[in-house]
Amino acid sequence: MKKRTKIVATIGPASDSLDMLVGLINAGVNVFRLNFSHGTYEQHRIVLERIHEAMKLTGLVVGVLQDISGPKIRIGELKESFSLKENDTINFIREHIVGKKLTDSEYEVSINYPEILAQLAIGDYIYLYDGIIRTQVVSIDEVGVKVVVENQGLLSSKKGVNFPNTRLGVDVLTAKDRKDIAWGVKNGVDFMAISFVQTADDMINARAILKSLGGKQNLIAKIEKFDAIENIDAILEHSDGLMVARGDLGIEVPYYEVPNIQKMLIRKANAACKPVITATQMLLSMTTNERATRAEISDIANAVMDGTDAVMLSEESAVGVHPILAVKTMSNTISETEKLYKYNRYEGFVKNDSGDTISESAVRLSCDLDTKGIFAITSSGSSARKLARYKPKKTIYAVTHDESVRSQMTLSWGVIPLMSVKKESLGEILEVLMSRGLKNGSVSRENSYILTAGDPIGKAGTTNMIRVISKEDMQLF
Ligand code: ATP
Ligand code: MG
Ligand code: MG
Repeated sequence: MKKRTKIVATIGPASDSLDMLVGLINAGVNVFRLNFSHGTYEQHRIVLERIHEAMKLTGLVVGVLQDISGPKIRIGELKESFSLKENDTINFIREHIVGKKLTDSEYEVSINYPEILAQLAIGDYIYLYDGIIRTQVVSIDEVGVKVVVENQGLLSSKKGVNFPNTRLGVDVLTAKDRKDIAWGVKNGVDFMAISFVQTADDMINARAILKSLGGKQNLIAKIEKFDAIENIDAILEHSDGLMVARGDLGIEVPYYEVPNIQKMLIRKANAACKPVITATQMLLSMTTNERATRAEISDIANAVMDGTDAVMLSEESAVGVHPILAVKTMSNTISETEKLYKYNRYEGFVKNDSGDTISESAVRLSCDLDTKGIFAITSSGSSARKLARYKPKKTIYAVTHDESVRSQMTLSWGVIPLMSVKKESLGEILEVLMSRGLKNGSVSRENSYILTAGDPIGKAGTTNMIRVISKEDMQLF
């Protein structure tokens, strides 16, 4: 049985060759993430081309998620990576410089929003690289702000900087983000992740920009700010999915609150039938090692049990020593965890419309009649997502004639996207679907299936029927 929880892998210099992309897809990647904090348009364009080529070579469909960086504060380029140790000092210079080592224990760097340095006071903390390196301000002068390093760590170019004690009055969508969104629309990415979302307005604004460009991408809200937690219901309402962006989130809120927040976000996204990605540091040690830690494996298993739609790799696949091994590790952990998985979760979901009721009934029927799977004929993907929230034991096949909807289904838990041709009647679609499935072995006359659809077909959001396709019916195809 194939894994049901999806894998998102960030592509970077370690993984952007065609061979790697093919290997990653075969190892279980469902969605590739292109982080627009790094790389050039030209590099991303080449990666996108290779992803399309890799899909052809593997015969598998993957989605593409464009991560829109937002106003992320980062250090600048470094001449070489810093091996920081306790009590080293770093001077954050107000002017733009290339960061470098001055003496054995002194370093200097610049940041991309130097005006923020003016807000700091002696004693404030500054975190570097997703909170891995903690520093404290010891002196401030006209040249810059000097901090003392409190724990050792390796710091490379353009790593994130967090100021937990400082309020940042910056726009969530920068001028660069707007250009990046235009690029994503032009190049047909499937998802866009919006960083540092604080209120529903941030998603509404992003959607307005997207619409003005004629884009129909799914918008994922990255939850990594304290305010986003406070405003989560409204944000979720205006998003097509969530990302639990634990890197920055773990600095914004006390670290010990992150697991509960993760569970809360997953539960809410599940209830809203919207995909949720659990991200950051899932296999961090595999960036440099071939084996994961026990804690990392448990972290993945825990997110899977929580009901996340997808788990994500960042530097592990972008710059790590063995991207494919990281994906295999994730894939194996998911498959094993799913042996003990709590399938068919009916409790706690409010049914808002008849589509919700039909979906629950379809999941119950698929089990009560011991069918092999559920086919959802869907033009927007919504009915497949409605099935997915129940985490059915039986496979969900999302059948759509829209290629971009098919690609968007790659992120949703347990959903296998299938392409159909646009036909006048349900009978015709079924005929094409089953005869093709029988030919390629994905369905069998020994099994029965459930089908949900809107009849007459062709209108989004009109799922109004469930059909049982018995073994006897299967003989007709
Ligand atoms: P975010 O807050 O969006 O997650 P990030 O800097 O943490 O930003 P990730 O995509 O999570 O970025 O990747 C982690 C690290 O991997 C980056 O800091 C960077 O060093 C490296 N990396 C990722 N993608 C690329 C790329 N395309 N080119 C170079 N390095 C990359
Ligand atoms: Mg982040
Ligand atoms: Mg990150």
